[in-house]
Amino acid sequence: MTMMVPGLLAAYALVVAAAGTWWLPRASWPRRRPRLGIAACQVLTVTFVASVLLAGLLIAIPCLPDGVNLDVAAELRDHYSSARGIAIGSAAAAASLTVIGRLLWAAASAMATARRRRARHDETLALVGRPGPVPGLVILDDDRPLVYCLPGRDRVVVTTGALNRLDRAELQAVLAHERAHLSARHHLVIMLARILPDAFPGIRFLAIAADQIGGLVEMAADDSAARQHRLPLARALLLLATSPVPAPALGAARTAAGQRICRLLDRPRPASTAGRVAAFTVTLLAAPALALTVPACALLAAPHCSPNPAHQPPAASAPHSLPSHAAAPDKDLD
Ligand SMILES: [Zn+2]
Repeated sequence: MTMMVPGLLAAYALVVAAAGTWWLPRASWPRRRPRLGIAACQVLTVTFVASVLLAGLLIAIPCLPDGVNLDVAAELRDHYSSARGIAIGSAAAAASLTVIGRLLWAAASAMATARRRRARHDETLALVGRPGPVPGLVILDDDRPLVYCLPGRDRVVVTTGALNRLDRAELQAVLAHERAHLSARHHLVIMLARILPDAFPGIRFLAIAADQIGGLVEMAADDSAARQHRLPLARALLLLATSPVPAPALGAARTAAGQRICRLLDRPRPASTAGRVAAFTVTLLAAPALALTVPACALLAAPHCSPNPAHQPPAASAPHSLPSHAAAPDKDLD
């Protein structure tokens, strides 16, 4: 068994975690290009988890089988024939299964919790809310200035406190922000980002990446709304910044309000068409490709099971090694 590939994968994961922990909170370009920033965070976290998982699996399973054959069984038998092999292989297998199990548990838990909270919130809105003047808008009688969307229900909730404080342009701006969340399915982006730190709470890098994604999602929605409502959105965020938002919802001023207001006031240079196409291409194609590059290279470099002579066709070398009259029946070759 070679430990080179699992060792390289583990080293790569350590480098990604260390670099991500240091770099993600300090980098400024993701705030200028929030969608690219989200993609970068996703690439780093996915490739980190994939590398750790693959490293464990490659230690537990010493070679990759070529098709359906018995070679892997023979290799596994050899691999686990010594006490050291049993200890290392079993520990790696247990660690890999733990990683998979915690990921599945965290994903199932996050989905169930989100569904339960949304259903409860929906029931409450049905009792105390009233329909607004446009489809999908719900008005709540509450003095606190609140505007938020309910993912999955495609509804935007506005309190009377917000209606009283926001002027028409500011209200249109925050509604555009919330609709950007709904159309981009930002609740799924945030939920997927939270699954990893929930599954592995001891890894700081994953928590930092999830926090960054939460802030960048708000900036991406700001950018959508700011195409027509830049200054009204900044004023609205200032008015809404101090109000809390219910857990399953995405609020207009929920995250990093001060930073976002400064960002809206500091008008950025408009991106060129080529820049937007490049950003779209990177987000859609290059980011998933990058996330899979290291695991794919590791799989290509991983050793394959050596063919077991007992499973090979017996007559392959017979014409060169035996005279034709001496060709033996199969049972004599065993
Ligand atoms: Zn928002």
